[in-house]
Amino acid sequence: MSYRTPLEARVAKKVARAIGDYNLIEDGDRVMVGLSGGKDSWALMQVLHVLQRRAPISFSVIAVTVDSGYEGYRRDLIEAACAERGWDVVVEQTTIGDVMDDILEDGATPCSLCARLRRGVLYRLADEVGATKIALGHHADDVIETLVMNLFFSGSLKAMPARLVSDNDRHIVIRPLVYVAESEARQYTNECGLPIVGCCCPACGDLGLQRQRVKRLIAELEVDHPEIKNSMLRAAANLQPRHLLDRRFAATSTADPTLPKGTVPLTVRH
Ligand code: SF4
Repeated sequence: MSYRTPLEARVAKKVARAIGDYNLIEDGDRVMVGLSGGKDSWALMQVLHVLQRRAPISFSVIAVTVDSGYEGYRRDLIEAACAERGWDVVVEQTTIGDVMDDILEDGATPCSLCARLRRGVLYRLADEVGATKIALGHHADDVIETLVMNLFFSGSLKAMPARLVSDNDRHIVIRPLVYVAESEARQYTNECGLPIVGCCCPACGDLGLQRQRVKRLIAELEVDHPEIKNSMLRAAANLQPRHLLDRRFAATSTADPTLPKGTVPLTVRH
């Protein structure tokens, strides 16, 4: 079975590579896609259905949409597009928008709280629909922007893993688009005629947000260094902990039981 377009082939191959590299989807999985109606979650939903038909393994896909309760959110467009394509979708009405208003302090960035609240809803829904994996639409640009944001503003070297087991060991979050560029996800969603739905949150599209600043910075650097994003993505997959300043990985002369598993103690050179 061939792909419908060259773009679909490119996106599907990148997703298949991520699935293979990080063992994201296994035979018998029930994959629950967090479908916001944004370009990224649509691209993920579409490509998983394409791969579902081609993959040598069997897995099912269901979408869940978390309605945060913002006025004007077009959940009806999401439901209609899924119905047209025969895709399973569950829409969950929540009061996340009101909760955010109540507990967010003045001037605080809303997105991390919002993501945590929605993650809690997704975990509950995953149990309800019997999902074995929760798939999120974060793409390569999200990974590298998060890496830079943590480097610049949080004092930590971390990004977004392709596969993450939740703290309580009960859920597995996967990000099959980690090798797909944001521009590819956008083009793919448009090419497939999927309706891009805004979240209608007051912060959405605010160019003052830290992420938007980092996005602009990377775009500026990319003008002179076209390979910069690829290099950053490769860096996220090529950790050299002994060449950083984290004392848990620093040179020690004796085995230290507090070291992270797999750390190789070194002899200190004075
Ligand atoms: S832009 Fe709005 S909906 Fe999106 S993560 Fe931030 S607070 Fe949440």
